[in-house]
Amino acid sequence: MLKCKEVVDRADALVDGTPLSWREHFALRMHLLMCHHCRRYVRQLHALVTSLNGKNTPPASDEQVQGILDKLDHEH
Ligand SMILES: [Zn+2]
Repeated sequence: MLKCKEVVDRADALVDGTPLSWREHFALRMHLLMCHHCRRYVRQLHALVTSLNGKNTPPASDEQVQGILDKLDHEH
């Protein structure tokens, strides 16, 4: 099981679409399912990245975070 700090360390890759190994991705996904704190972190990071990209959008919903994860799944 990942620690929160390890999830935070990998959250950049998750949000900007850097490929992770399926093992890492699976571990992240499991952690995010159980950890409200990290879900919120990923959401906020996603909102930040999106705003840096020039799109003024509200923080991603849980569904959107799930969508990011699903998209990553499909890229493997
Ligand atoms: Zn956590």
